Amino acid sequence: MAQLLLVEDDEGIGRRLEQALQANGHRVAWQRTGASALQSAAGRSFDLVLLDLGLPDIDGVEVCRDLRVRLPGAVLVMLTARREEMDIVVGLEAGADDYLTKPFGLNELLARIRAHLRRQTPTEISGASVFASGDLRLDTRARRCSVAGTEVPLRTKEFDLLARLAATAGEAVSRETLMADVWDEHWFGSTKTLDVHIAAVRRRLGQAASETRPPARIPAIATLRGHGYRLEACPEEPVA
Ligand code: CA
Repeated sequence: MAQLLLVEDDEGIGRRLEQALQANGHRVAWQRTGASALQSAAGRSFDLVLLDLGLPDIDGVEVCRDLRVRLPGAVLVMLTARREEMDIVVGLEAGADDYLTKPFGLNELLARIRAHLRRQTPTEISGASVFASGDLRLDTRARRCSVAGTEVPLRTKEFDLLARLAATAGEAVSRETLMADVWDEHWFGSTKTLDVHIAAVRRRLGQAASETRPPARIPAIATLRGHGYRLEACPEEPVA
């Protein structure tokens, strides 16, 4: 049973969501304002947050940023009527893990929640739990990622995604396979979530690599238009 924080000011939508989530065995704390959501998050921990971005008191993206700090381990899913790509990207950069645009179906929401709460079993990388390429080191059992010895904080799905690509480094992995392996076999809807997670992994690794002198060598994640992604292992460094 998961502990969910539902932040939604619309009584009708909130009640329907609360009932459906409870019927699926979740415990739900429903807050109607940004302020009460932040207060609620200060006092206890949650596994997952459903956050409506259009709140009466505080801007949803601000609430998102604040919840990310207060609930570092929780999955944050934005619920938004805003279809503009920028808003979604801003929200994802503020710390959200995923989003759903209204109107959405209950089955889709429940599938997403299931996918997010599903804990990944460690991905075996060629029968081992450690992948190393250039200055990147990935330990799937310890769930640690480091660049040139410095740990890079990756969020749960970012780590799973990188580990999945590393498991078949040098090979193309289709979007469908990535969504199925990292999220859920019955995933439907926003595959933009995949692109945003790829961008986040690239950004975090790139930043870590640029902070070392000389810049660390890390494998690139190649975009394969119309297909998916491929992790390019670093070429062997010449010995002499
Ligand atoms: Ca609202």
